[in-house]
Amino acid sequence: MSFSWTPHRFAGGALALDVANSVVLRHDARRRIDRFAVRDQMRSFPSAAAEFCAERALFGDITPVAEENEADFLALREAIDLYFRERIQNSGGDQLLAGLLEALAKTLRGASPGGLAAATAHSVLRLIAMPDPERMKICGNCGWLFIDRSKNRSRAWCDMAVCGNRAKANRHYRRKKEETP
Ligand SMILES: [Zn+2]
Repeated sequence: MSFSWTPHRFAGGALALDVANSVVLRHDARRRIDRFAVRDQMRSFPSAAAEFCAERALFGDITPVAEENEADFLALREAIDLYFRERIQNSGGDQLLAGLLEALAKTLRGASPGGLAAATAHSVLRLIAMPDPERMKICGNCGWLFIDRSKNRSRAWCDMAVCGNRAKANRHYRRKKEETP
């Protein structure tokens, strides 16, 4: 099956979260998929981000990460997920912030201006400083990180059309099973 960067894959609401979400079902070792493990997919990510990412107006057109900076960029991606996931789950993560900042500094040293790495780094800094961190959540279906911009802050899924419907279908399926003697 051919892969494409659809709007759903930018449901994070911030570039740094969309980058972290390039790993699908991160905590399910059997079903986990790393979209950036396929080089073409990592290289086509920036042009899709310029089209679909919620922060696109802030960074405009961005270029792919230079080959020699890819390892640092992927390390930054992991640090982003580690820190923000911990911040959401345990309202903590302070001990992980140092690691994130270190990964940021390392990535920025090799990053070209106007590139994905630099844009992601800036997105991270905006997220660290966001005034309403309680809006950042973990999708109850796929485990992605996302920002809940809804008025009453009641979103449980990264994308209602995809994960919300899947969760509903699962509940329905479970109920049916339970009803069957
Ligand atoms: Zn989801």
